[in-house]
Amino acid sequence: MRHDVGVRFVIQQHQARSLHFDFRLEAGGVLKSWAVPKGPSTDPREKRLAVQVEDHALGHAGFEGRAGAGAVIIWDAGTYRSLTDGPVEDAIAAGHLSFWLEGEKLRGGWTLQRTDDGAKPQWLLVKRRDEEADAQRDPVATEPESIVSGRTIETVE
Ligand code: MN
Repeated sequence: MRHDVGVRFVIQQHQARSLHFDFRLEAGGVLKSWAVPKGPSTDPREKRLAVQVEDHALGHAGFEGRAGAGAVIIWDAGTYRSLTDGPVEDAIAAGHLSFWLEGEKLRGGWTLQRTDDGAKPQWLLVKRRDEEADAQRDPVATEPESIVSGRTIETVE
């Protein structure tokens, strides 16, 4: 029996060659993953590019620290539930998934929509219009700290 209720999500800010946010949803025993250069927006008018990258092991959701020449912090985490019928993996394979986040910084409905299905599939991550939408918030800018340690990406050692 499958349940997609209360499954984990994590958003890790990652300083690599460029600074980006890795948005990860637990599904099918792995972390389905997208690199979001600008990070998520709580404004439904803001469509944020999300490039699908390789699945990660579930254990990676707890990682924070140095990563090669770069660094990773756990910017937000919590649970999510799908708002799309059927298994989450099938929705992702079909290129459209809506879901509800219960994180510390991010709450509410979001949609991931695939727009280009090449070697590095491009998606858009967009806040849905609900009571948690807020065009005035800018959590990427105003809430940069790790929810685990309180550190910013610049101070990770
Ligand atoms: Mn990354």
